[in-house]
Amino acid sequence: MEKVKTLIIGSGPAGYTAAIYASRSNLQPLLYRGIQPGGQLTTTTIIENFPGFKDGIDANQLMMEMNQQAVNVGADVRDGAIVKADLSKRPFICEDERGNVIEASTVIIATGASAKYLGLPDEEKYRGQGVSACATCDGFFYRKRTVAVVGGGDTACEEAMYLSGLAKKVYMIVRKPFLRAAEIMQKRVMEQENIEILFNTNTVGLFGEQGVEGAHLVRNKGEQNEENYDIAIDGFFLAIGHTPNTELFKGQLELDQQGFIITKPRSTATNIEGVYAAGDVADPIYRQGVVAAGTGAMAAIEAERFLQDKGEK
Ligand code: NDP
Repeated sequence: MEKVKTLIIGSGPAGYTAAIYASRSNLQPLLYRGIQPGGQLTTTTIIENFPGFKDGIDANQLMMEMNQQAVNVGADVRDGAIVKADLSKRPFICEDERGNVIEASTVIIATGASAKYLGLPDEEKYRGQGVSACATCDGFFYRKRTVAVVGGGDTACEEAMYLSGLAKKVYMIVRKPFLRAAEIMQKRVMEQENIEILFNTNTVGLFGEQGVEGAHLVRNKGEQNEENYDIAIDGFFLAIGHTPNTELFKGQLELDQQGFIITKPRSTATNIEGVYAAGDVADPIYRQGVVAAGTGAMAAIEAERFLQDKGEK
């Protein structure tokens, strides 16, 4: 059994920043990169909203730099995923997929969240070529073009509003005859001239020679007046929710209704002493790389103070 002061689970901006801070305060952290090394950002292309890169930076490169920075300051960064976590008492016992057992005095959970997709084969086909789950990340590429946002919740409305400031036209594809978003958000999208809401509408597929050029839609699916039609679009944005990657901690950590880890106010501390949560796994609201990085730093600082208080540093 391997013993560590700090085990970090996840390799997005939260995990790597936690590793950098924890290493620099001599916690010799062990970081497991998980099944998607680099995290959600690696599904996008250029990042232009992470400060410090005046011309933007390739997302994969940014994550590789973070990885290298963590290694340079002494973090033990490993491939592989933690598949078992017993948080019932300290030290916490975790196990990776190869059966290696780790005894950790503190755990920083930075397992992120995954955007939900509709499950259409075309979403895979055009991923990075017109299909995106993050308007803030990719909207800029659609200036003066036509895009569609799928979903009728707050996220979809926010994304549609954001995109309406860049794109020529924004369709919202909403499967129900109403929006689920807060009233004020509904009002905003309804009043925005270049947003058109397609109610009772589902997406059946996407088409295009070089990237997305349009979507096949069906209105009133399963009804007598069912109608198939196409719209011409350059970008297809999913905004049907995110699933936090918290399966491993269910029944152990306090989660909200959607499964996000609940942290104490102004802190990354969870309901279990010595367990911290950083990044999107505990953030249903902002979901930005820079915010995740910030909470990663907080988690490492809190873990360090905790170990110091316990005389275990
Ligand atoms: P929601 O679960 O609130 O909404 C998801 C939307 O996507 C719904 O319109 C839903 O339709 C639709 N949808 C889900 N699955 C499919 C599917 N397979 N095909 C087509 N449509 C689908 O998720 P959000 O991400 O919008 O919000 C999550 C939480 O975060 C909410 O509590 C929200 O209020 C909150 N939030 C708050 C913000 C704020 O206050 N500023 C900003 C963003 C989010 P249907 O209604 O038919 O289920």
